[in-house]
Amino acid sequence: MAKILITDHIHPDGIKLLEQLDGVEAVDAKFGLPREKLIQEIREYDVLIVRSATKVTKEVIDAGDKLKIVARAGVGLDNIDVNAANARGIKVLNAPEAPSAAVAELVLGMMLSWARKIPEAHASMKMGKWEKSKFMGIELRGKTLGIVGTGQIGRMVGHRARAFGMSLLLYDVVQNVEFANQTGAKYVDLDTLLRSSDFVTMHVPLTPQTKGMIGRREFGLMKPSAVLINTSRGEVVDEDALVEALQQGRIAGACLDVYRKEPLPSDSPLLKLDNVVLTPHIGASTEEAQREAAIIIAEKIKRELANL
Ligand code: NAD
Repeated sequence: MAKILITDHIHPDGIKLLEQLDGVEAVDAKFGLPREKLIQEIREYDVLIVRSATKVTKEVIDAGDKLKIVARAGVGLDNIDVNAANARGIKVLNAPEAPSAAVAELVLGMMLSWARKIPEAHASMKMGKWEKSKFMGIELRGKTLGIVGTGQIGRMVGHRARAFGMSLLLYDVVQNVEFANQTGAKYVDLDTLLRSSDFVTMHVPLTPQTKGMIGRREFGLMKPSAVLINTSRGEVVDEDALVEALQQGRIAGACLDVYRKEPLPSDSPLLKLDNVVLTPHIGASTEEAQREAAIIIAEKIKRELANL
């Protein structure tokens, strides 16, 4: 019989599912355990479930004598020492598929916010002003959206952008012909996409190949009226080059949810710019995405436990 320890808040529907599993003796939620306490507690458990707060270090993994599964009810595995887990034959699970719609909707929200100056108009109203003529915007309709990375999220963004009357240009190392056909879009090389797009949205994972993929040279190719949106990982974009491009008006704006360093340092030059829309890495922060992550993880654990 397996014992499951949950150390970060996950959606209660996922916990319910885990409690109903055959072969599960206990599901214990002990949120926010200090490091030493976790190292003690982990000895008794077969499965550890975390989100982003708990750091599953080599020390934690090595202390888990009975540990068979470490699961993250979320996307990245940055807070789990995957090598240490692999070395001990411990299975590492995550739920990268859960927040796709949440991220895609944020991208559309950011584009609309930028295009219609919604954050500035809202801030002005809150200050008691009525600056109607100050907030002249542009429409998404008829604009070209360049999607870099047509995986799960990139495709969801594409379908939503089509509904706003945008046309799409696509770039990916693996081409999805079905998606291109469905959206009347075409795959082009990255330079062509950058030269021809009004909005460019990044949806690639952070890898040695994608690190700094958009830098000084790439900003030089983009239209002066173009807007860059990054909800993927901060380091996919060279942040210094981005600040320079925004300061010098080489591109018109940026919408960012992810940063080279998070939390974004309070002295970041990005905070001083007017032509940006910034959010604090909230791409996956919806009720639905969190629920789905917890349920996906519970189902993956069920399958793994059945195979033990
Ligand atoms: P995915 O794996 O479904 O798609 C990624 C796509 O990128 C794939 O089609 C792949 O072929 C392509 N790709 C990989 N390397 C490439 C390269 N060198 N050049 C061009 N294309 C390349 O991933 P996804 O679920 O769509 O997620 C995309 C990104 O969103 C990831 O970076 C993920 O970390 C990020 N994300 C952010 C949040 C957030 O909170 N902001 C939440 C979830 C995911």
